[in-house]
Amino acid sequence: MAWDINRDKCLRCGACVSVCPELALDLKEGGIKNDAEKCTLCGICQKVCPPHAIEVKK
Ligand code: SF4
Ligand code: SF4
Repeated sequence: MAWDINRDKCLRCGACVSVCPELALDLKEGGIKNDAEKCTLCGICQKVCPPHAIEVKK
């Protein structure tokens, strides 16, 4: 089980941050940060990411 991001693909649009029901994502200087303690691996962020930069493995 894991949440992963391809930082080369990420456009920093913030869409994933807005939709995460657990508020597990944050857009920082270095890119998107995932708080593994909050993330339930629901996969919503993966679905809304325009360049498909997020991969959620259950
Ligand atoms: S998988 Fe779900 S809980 Fe985890 S960061 Fe994405 S939207 Fe949030
Ligand atoms: S939705 Fe995708 S491209 Fe946009 S900030 Fe999140 S990871 Fe990056």
